[in-house]
Amino acid sequence: MKKQNIETICVQGGYNPGNGQPRQLPIVQSTTYRYDTSADMGKLFDLESDGYMYSRLANPTCDMVAKKIAALEGGTAAMLTSSGQAANFFAIFNIASCKDHIVASSTIYGGTFNLFSVTMQRMGIEFTFVNPDCTEEELNAAFKPNTKAVFGETIANPALTVLDIEKFAKAAHDHGVPLIIDNTFATPVNCRPFEWGADIVTHSTTKYMEGHAATIGGCIVDSGKFDWAKYPDKFPGLCTPDESYHGVTYTKRFGLEGAFITKAVAQLMRDFGSTPSPQSAFLLSLGLESLPIRMERHCSNAMKMAEFLESNDKISWVNYPDLESNKYHELAKKYLPNGSCGVISFGIKGGRKKAEEFMGHLTLASIETHVADSRTCCLHPASSTHRQMTDVQLSEAGVAEDLIRLSVGLENIDDLIEDVKNALNQI
Ligand SMILES: *Cc1c(COP(=O)(O)O)cnc(C)c1O
Repeated sequence: MKKQNIETICVQGGYNPGNGQPRQLPIVQSTTYRYDTSADMGKLFDLESDGYMYSRLANPTCDMVAKKIAALEGGTAAMLTSSGQAANFFAIFNIASCKDHIVASSTIYGGTFNLFSVTMQRMGIEFTFVNPDCTEEELNAAFKPNTKAVFGETIANPALTVLDIEKFAKAAHDHGVPLIIDNTFATPVNCRPFEWGADIVTHSTTKYMEGHAATIGGCIVDSGKFDWAKYPDKFPGLCTPDESYHGVTYTKRFGLEGAFITKAVAQLMRDFGSTPSPQSAFLLSLGLESLPIRMERHCSNAMKMAEFLESNDKISWVNYPDLESNKYHELAKKYLPNGSCGVISFGIKGGRKKAEEFMGHLTLASIETHVADSRTCCLHPASSTHRQMTDVQLSEAGVAEDLIRLSVGLENIDDLIEDVKNALNQI
């Protein structure tokens, strides 16, 4: 059959009911699975047969949703995690351990930055952060003999920088390591990083993928293209026998297409247990059914809002990749031809005080730390998530003291612009 288009995979991917079976994805609400003989069970433990044994490792509902996301990204295998944080942690910890090194873009989500620069640093993994706009030379200079991966976000949250994925993929591959891309803001509807050379994709499905602010979740997808076996000294965990798993060698037993995800499930899910519930996976699948339609509306609403803000004289600056005036517009046209996402950042003349005042007058857009769901919301980082920082520290973090992050939802855009206009008129 011809390769399906993304809208079709969003609705029908991952689950093919047989004769008389439920049309909608069944929620398998069971921690455990029954077998006839101990020998049957033994084969599962040796990874010699397919099947389920305990839902901390794998659950049929979660697996079907993972399969749908793998198809959406054009990958060979995927696993769901209980959050985006767990997805990024597992994606890196699956191939890096104490005394290893990672190159990462400096404009990444604050939670990921903290995970890397504080918590994983404590585990002995070192990170070098590079400006995503750096030259190839500067990027290459960040690598060390013990570098195991490169990490970046397609569209960074909240900086909204657009990553030159091909530039980062080339540098990673020249140094014999994979490129891991957090594709949360773009979603596979607007960008499929594997088509540009990325090897592993991660998601916080909490955002657009689930889309309704109803459930936290994450996902890791493998392209199946990175040849771990070519660098056995760099990736011993994938290329030599795992004594904690009956001596299995993941690359030999599961091939390029299955080694990375099988190891992540067998070792990391087993030991850390950041498993999503089947109920959460079901909600994610339900959200995915409408993802292409929602992304189109998020983007067209955000574009109209960005244009309105740009034309208003109380606004000092607007940052949205789809605006022609934007620094990343050329990269956005290349990697995100159908639109970027629904998140805009902008500044108000009069700085911090006016920003807080403005937000207090909004009625439709609510003040939240969330982004990327159906309801419009906004945040003033300098007085909330980043309030402990001085103005100097804020500017170093790329968060101007007047910056407002606006996540444009699915409401009628005329109503949203009216709401913003009213609030601006009152300051
Ligand atoms: C929110 C977010 C995360 C963290 O995901 P959670 O689901 O909140 O754990 C990671 N990366 C990006 C780009 C995000 O926006």
